[in-house]
Amino acid sequence: GATIGILGGGQLGRMLSVAASRLGFKTCIFEPGGDCPASHVANYHFQASYDDTDALRKFGEAVDVITYEFENIPASALDQLEAICEVRPNRRALTVSQDRLTEKNFLQEVGLKVAPFMAVDTLEDMHKAVAEIGTPSILKTCRLGYDGKGQARLREESDAEQAFASMNGAAAVLEGFVDFSCEISVIGARAADGQVACFDPGENVHRHGILHTTTVPASVPASVRTDAVLIAARILNALDYVGVLGVELFVTPDGLIVNEIAPRVHNSGHWTQNGCVIDQFEQHIRAVAGWPLGDGSRHADVVMENLIGADMDRVADLSADPAVALHLYGKADAKAGRKMGHINRIQPRS
Ligand code: ATP
Ligand code: MG
Ligand code: MG
Repeated sequence: GATIGILGGGQLGRMLSVAASRLGFKTCIFEPGGDCPASHVANYHFQASYDDTDALRKFGEAVDVITYEFENIPASALDQLEAICEVRPNRRALTVSQDRLTEKNFLQEVGLKVAPFMAVDTLEDMHKAVAEIGTPSILKTCRLGYDGKGQARLREESDAEQAFASMNGAAAVLEGFVDFSCEISVIGARAADGQVACFDPGENVHRHGILHTTTVPASVPASVRTDAVLIAARILNALDYVGVLGVELFVTPDGLIVNEIAPRVHNSGHWTQNGCVIDQFEQHIRAVAGWPLGDGSRHADVVMENLIGADMDRVADLSADPAVALHLYGKADAKAGRKMGHINRIQPRS
């Protein structure tokens, strides 16, 4: 059978490996860390850094297609791998979503709404941006931010200098604060032949910048759910995308505003593991392997909850709850803020 190469060895890589193996594929991960969640389930593990050109070449030659579980793959590694083996989703999907500024410009170009934003590279830019966008607002690093890290909130204009200083000179973007009624996300998929399918939008609640729960169905009108799915499809088609994509949206009285996109399987799509016959991980593997997409229609109501840090103390109780499906990542060290697993609490579809 074919071998699927996965860049990154975290929990997303682990769950992609499981899905691939269920379809008869072998998986090979590329991950600098040793004892990582995906290494426990993948068939092969290239443990090397992204500037190890020899390891990258051997990895590229050992696999039939390459995908990834995180978007911050260095450009040089991508250059090298692309020359040896097909990378799915494609380079444009990666480069667009590696940088918040590029991403927002792209989203606007394809006709989607984003929060008001301005690039901030210097303190002078910062003052201009605050004058233009006002407060409340959020300054975010363009690159490498996740789980609300690399962000500073401005309540009033006088917060500008401190917020700017907290970026440590990294390129940033100031965003107007969106007064949303709720947050939803869509997990969309596109096959190599252009077939598109989206999972039902989920409603997301964050705590301290980290996703806490995703609930399906989202408590928004059917028209909003349809809009959300159409937005995801537009992004997938515009990028000639192959694989699964996560789209985070703010629901406002003036319609949906795109917060950000992720060119990979997404935490807010974990509910699909117990709410659909074909989940986001299998859908992604199908797409990158050149298969048709599966049927991702929802057969249950689900609340997905992340297990973070000390939440692991609840596992014994949760394991005795018949309505709960447990998904643990095999991480040894339950540090504060660390995603250790998640649960899907299931009910018959309402
Ligand atoms: P992720 O782990 O999802 O990649 P991230 O670090 O990229 O997180 P964002 O998704 O940009 O961060 O922001 C985290 C959360 O902060 C959002 O889900 C939302 O709740 C809030 N937030 C971000 N930007 C805005 C905004 N412009 N207006 C209002 N709330 C916002
Ligand atoms: Mg993000
Ligand atoms: Mg986000």
